[in-house]
Amino acid sequence: MDIAAIALQVNSLKSFFNQGQTRALSWRRQQLLQLKKMTEDHEDDIAKALEQDLGKCRQEAWTAEIGYLLSEINHSLRHLNKWSKRRRVSTPMVAQPGSSFLLPEPKGVALIIGAWNYPFQLLLAPLVAAIAAGNCAVLKPSELAVNVSALLAKLVPDYLDQHAFVLIEGGVEQTTEVLKQPFDHVFYTGGESVGKIVMRAAAEHLTPVTLELGGKSPCIVDQNTNLKVTARRIVWSKWMNAGQTCVAPDYVIVSKDFSQPLIDAIKQELTAFYGKDSATNGDYGRIINDRHHARLIGYLQGQNIIHGGQADSDTRYLAPTLVLNPDLHSALMQEEIFGPILPIITLDKIEDSIALVNQRAKPLALYLYTNDKDLTERVLHQTSAGSVCINDGMIFMTNPKLPFGGVGNSGMGSYHGQFGFDTFSHLKAVMKRPFIFDVNLRYPPFNRFKLSVLKKLL
Ligand code: NAD
Repeated sequence: MDIAAIALQVNSLKSFFNQGQTRALSWRRQQLLQLKKMTEDHEDDIAKALEQDLGKCRQEAWTAEIGYLLSEINHSLRHLNKWSKRRRVSTPMVAQPGSSFLLPEPKGVALIIGAWNYPFQLLLAPLVAAIAAGNCAVLKPSELAVNVSALLAKLVPDYLDQHAFVLIEGGVEQTTEVLKQPFDHVFYTGGESVGKIVMRAAAEHLTPVTLELGGKSPCIVDQNTNLKVTARRIVWSKWMNAGQTCVAPDYVIVSKDFSQPLIDAIKQELTAFYGKDSATNGDYGRIINDRHHARLIGYLQGQNIIHGGQADSDTRYLAPTLVLNPDLHSALMQEEIFGPILPIITLDKIEDSIALVNQRAKPLALYLYTNDKDLTERVLHQTSAGSVCINDGMIFMTNPKLPFGGVGNSGMGSYHGQFGFDTFSHLKAVMKRPFIFDVNLRYPPFNRFKLSVLKKLL
């Protein structure tokens, strides 16, 4: 779409929204069913595009993208009635008789900007929430996932109401132009630096934003754990999508005494998952583009690589790689890795991990593997993170009853399930009063008696 057409498109979505059709639950349900149909009809095409962009295998394409989106749609369809109902709250004595409630209303026209690592669901799961809440939306897929972007540009207009939804492909130039438009909500998934650009642009129109960012998610492993299951779950959540997952464990913290058993167990699970040569294993993904491949290779310069490290720039392959005790000031430990490299940091005592985590920006996720209740409580209460998972990896994302979002540098706002519905809704505060009992305590002329009664009531 050319730049001049963008403002016209957004205006036409606004006009459609103002006509009121999107408020009907029947319309919302129909659009959600259409999105479901689009996903089911084109499961093979979606999987193929993900394979082309990221070397994503069929099983990961289904579990982390296609099936994930379908379950979000089904959950929203099941709960739409309840979420959109007025939510009663109590009314204080001073406003009695009366009733109070929150009335969810759609915000209007939302902008949803997706990232490249899960390019299908990161664009469409927020859309599920936007539709459920009764909004129109502009969708901006990541230009780095070229094939998924092109496929969605073809499918979305075929399945969804074209008066309410428009997909705009393109890179920085298009996104910059889109961001100039006055939206009612901007939902952005991606890195921190662009997150600031998005927030600055939204500030021009005082538009609320949700920023789903990333960061370095720590993984603390205590000696008091089930070693085999711990290693397997770390390997699963780190090397899925070749480490290009916002909630992948970025680095492991372990006590010196326990580091060798953990390293051996991780190596064993890597071989069990991807065989002796992950380069020839169809379940192992590829890096999105040459720039990111070079960035990751750069992180390895001068590091103590204890496993992996093999790379092929022609196929954008980078082996599952372990680095022991990197310099905490090196790029590997300063930047979000977002690739298949796992640094392992050893400490004298696992309790010291809390201070190490707290020296850094608040992460999107924190993982703790332990059977120790006391350590669990200390980590929970003395650290901050968007989400915490105890004794597993990113499995927590499958629970739509948990909000998903960051804190501090890892983002603001959240979605999934009702949290997404509420993000794209304004919870309008309503109080209703009858005309009877119009007690004159609050009206002038004032006197001491009125004030003393009011003091007791308020
Ligand atoms: P990206 O390069 O795909 O950029 C994200 C979006 O921003 C794209 O749609 C792109 O077109 C747009 N964009 C890029 N430059 C822009 C500019 N100058 N102005 C306006 N828009 C611009 O993705 P990325 O930033 O490389 O994504 C990786 C980051 O995203 C990581 O930090 C990761 O942790 C984070 N992430 C977070 C989540 C989450 O749900 N919290 C999910 C996935 C990724």
